Amino acid sequence: MPVHSRRRGSSRGKILDLIRSTGPVSRVELSEMTGLTQATVSTSVRDLLRDGLVSETGRGESTGGKPRTTLEINPASRLGIGLHIGRDYTTYIVADLAGTVIGRLRVPGVGDAEPEPAVARMASDVDQLLTGLDVDRSAVVGIGVATPGPINRDAGAIMGAPALAHWTGFPIAATLSRATGFDCTFDNDATAAAIGEFWLGATGDYNTYASVYMGAGIGVGIVIDGTIYHGKQANVGELGHITVDAMGPTCSCGNVGCVELFAGPRSVIDAARAAVERGELEMEFTGTITTDLARIADLAVHGDATASALFTRSAEYLAAAVVSMVNLIDVQLVVLAGSAFQTVGSLYARTIAERLDERAFARAVQRVDVRMSVNGTDAAALGAATLVLQDTLSPRSLASITLA
Ligand SMILES: [Zn+2]
Repeated sequence: MPVHSRRRGSSRGKILDLIRSTGPVSRVELSEMTGLTQATVSTSVRDLLRDGLVSETGRGESTGGKPRTTLEINPASRLGIGLHIGRDYTTYIVADLAGTVIGRLRVPGVGDAEPEPAVARMASDVDQLLTGLDVDRSAVVGIGVATPGPINRDAGAIMGAPALAHWTGFPIAATLSRATGFDCTFDNDATAAAIGEFWLGATGDYNTYASVYMGAGIGVGIVIDGTIYHGKQANVGELGHITVDAMGPTCSCGNVGCVELFAGPRSVIDAARAAVERGELEMEFTGTITTDLARIADLAVHGDATASALFTRSAEYLAAAVVSMVNLIDVQLVVLAGSAFQTVGSLYARTIAERLDERAFARAVQRVDVRMSVNGTDAAALGAATLVLQDTLSPRSLASITLA
C-alpha cells in the first residue's frame, strides 16, 4: 500500500508507487494489483514513460504465454533534497527516486542563531552540496524540510518548539524557497521519518505502523492503512508530551509529568549529571544533547551499571507510553528512529517489545512487531527527501482536498 503524504493518489500515483516498490513489473500485473483496467494502466504508464519516470526494461519471465515487457523506476530522473533542522545538527540528504542516498551533509545545528541568516546559510549549503555532487539541478523536485514540532505546516513555520522557541512563526519554507529557487515541503521530523521507513521498504507488508522518533524530543509518525495521519495541523504524535504522572513536575510544553521528563534525552543527561555529582558516574558534559547522550550510551554499552540504569529507566517510561499508544491506535509495527537510539537502540527495542507482549490490551489478538529504523540518525532527513519526492509525484488533481 502506498503511503501518501497529503492526499490519496490517482491511478498514476498508485502505479508509480507500485513500480517503485515492487521492481520490474508488467502492465498486466499492475492491473491485477491495483484493480484498475488495463486501458487505465496503459495510459498512466505512457505518461510515466513520457516523463522519464519509468523505463521499459526488456522482457519479464514468460509464464507459458508470450513474454511481457516489464517496467522499472528510473531512479536518477528525479531527486529530492531532505533537510532536517535541529538545534545540535542540521542534516541534508539528496535522494533519488528509488530512495537511494546520493549525497549527505551534516553541519552544526542552528543553536541560538537567528532564523534569517541561518536559513540563508542553509540555501548556501544546499547549493554547495549539489555542486559537489555534480547532479542535474533540473532533476531536483524540491526540498523537504523536517523540524521538531509543534509546527504550522501551511505557514511552513515552527510554532513554539522548546528547542527552537526563537524560530516561532518564522516562514522557513517560503524563505528557503525564495533563496534556493526550489519548492519546499514542510513537516515535522517524526512524520518525515515514518514516510522514509515506507520508502526504504522497512515496513514490509505492514500498512499500519508508528515510527517513534527520538532526537532531542520524542515524537511519533503514524501511518494508518497506508496513509500518513497528519491530524488537523500536522501536530500528531506528540508521544513525549503524554502525562505519565499527573502530579508530576511541569514540562516546558506547559503540561505536567510528561513522558519526556522521564524518558527523553534531556532527562537522561540530567540524571547523569546528578550521578556525577554524587560520585557514581565519571564523565564530562559538552552541553550538546546529542553528544552528551552518546557519551552516556558509550559508558552503558561498555558495562557501566549507573549509565546503563539511566537508559533502563528511560526505556521503561518510553515503553509504557508506547503501550498506551498501541492501545489507542492499534498498529502492527513500531519502528524506532532518531539519533537517541543510535548506540542503545537494542535496549529500547527489547524493552518496548517485552512490555507490549506483557501489557498491550489486545496482545492475545495480535503481536506488535518492534524494529530499529533502517535509516538510523538520518531518518528524518531522508524521510524529508522522500516526502518531497512523494508529494511532487503524487497527482495534483486532489491537491485541494486533504484526505489524511
Ligand atoms: Zn510536555
